[in-house]
Amino acid sequence: MNIVKKYYNIGKHILFPICRSITGKGTLKTLKIIKSEFPNLKIKSIPSKTKVFDWNIPAEWNVEDAYVKDKFGQKIIDFKKNNLHLMGYSIPINKILNKKKLLDHIYYLKKQPNAIPYTTSYYQKRWGFNISYNQKKKLDNNYKNNDKFSVVIKSKFNPYGKLNYGELIIKGESKKEILISTYVCHPSMANDQLSGPIVSMCLMNYFQSLKKVKKTLRFIFIPETIGSIAYLSKNLNHLKNYLIGGYVLACVGDNKNHSFVLSKYENSPSDEAIKDAYKKLNIKNYKMFSFLERGSDERQYNSPGIDFSIPLLCRSKPTLYKEYHTSLDDFNLVTKKGITGGFEVAKTAINILSNKIIPKNLVLCEPQMGKRGLYNTLSIKRDFLLSRSYMNFLQFADGKNSLEEISRQIKIDIKITKKIFYKLKKYNLIR
Ligand code: ZN
Repeated sequence: MNIVKKYYNIGKHILFPICRSITGKGTLKTLKIIKSEFPNLKIKSIPSKTKVFDWNIPAEWNVEDAYVKDKFGQKIIDFKKNNLHLMGYSIPINKILNKKKLLDHIYYLKKQPNAIPYTTSYYQKRWGFNISYNQKKKLDNNYKNNDKFSVVIKSKFNPYGKLNYGELIIKGESKKEILISTYVCHPSMANDQLSGPIVSMCLMNYFQSLKKVKKTLRFIFIPETIGSIAYLSKNLNHLKNYLIGGYVLACVGDNKNHSFVLSKYENSPSDEAIKDAYKKLNIKNYKMFSFLERGSDERQYNSPGIDFSIPLLCRSKPTLYKEYHTSLDDFNLVTKKGITGGFEVAKTAINILSNKIIPKNLVLCEPQMGKRGLYNTLSIKRDFLLSRSYMNFLQFADGKNSLEEISRQIKIDIKITKKIFYKLKKYNLIR
């Protein structure tokens, strides 16, 4: 079966109905379903309360049921019909409230009368229900102010719970790594949730089927923000030694746009590889956003001290499409064609990035070129220019720039830059 079709169907029919959050059974179930397709996916966990940089892993949240019943005993809001009806991380409650008090906890979007909004309150104790504006109007019209409602949220916070995430590594010829990061913390939404895991599954299937991959690929499925912070706090040393770039995948399944958010300094090998991929795939009208418009885990990966220069790859950029964070973000918006487009760009960019040479200077300060016979001790002009080129190359060979970028920086044709690279490599001045 076509791999896009296979993982699209798993997303649509099996993963979509699950209530996920940053912790809890729904996220674990999602990871287990992915693992059933990829047995070498490792499901790992970090206990609640663990300090991760400036944060603490929150208590594990699970919800059994949540609803609002009217005075006739009729459920007028029901979490079991659509898990978006409940605010994520709602505290438990079992109360009789009048209409006004109830409405204090009801969220809706006047501008999108059919849409149930998605809300969460991870770090502030709250409870709430989300309904469409049409439902809200019914509430206004069908009930009097002093009508009573029974509000039930059967949620639990386990302070000894855990945060789960998934990790799959495809070993390459080189130990140098590319990170593909996507999230598994949103409830029933398609583009801003399942498109990332679907495209990641397509990528894992594709790269596992290859005889060899140049660089090692590290796929992770984490809850957004707290998950990437936790992952970095656990793996930073390793990643600092091996990571050369990668992508955050979010909203990669609609067929409206191709877009990406550049890494902070806009010139990383990962940025270059996306642009090259668009070119190769003949995608001309893509949208490119500055890092100031970041939104997903690239926020963490580009932070000072982390500095991984990882862009966000998407179809429509999160927040910029009207279905975003509502019940309208479903599998009508996310299509096989949309997923195929996201998959093709990601696959091509990873392949290009995997083939890139990213030289790293092995000597602190300038090496003494004279003793290696690379510097003309008599300073004749022609040779001076050549050794100057070596030195220029070495200045930019900081493990962050591709050969192409170094060629641009030192204003020397790529073919000659390559020759300089091989020469310096021969003399063990770079790796
Ligand atoms: Zn989101």
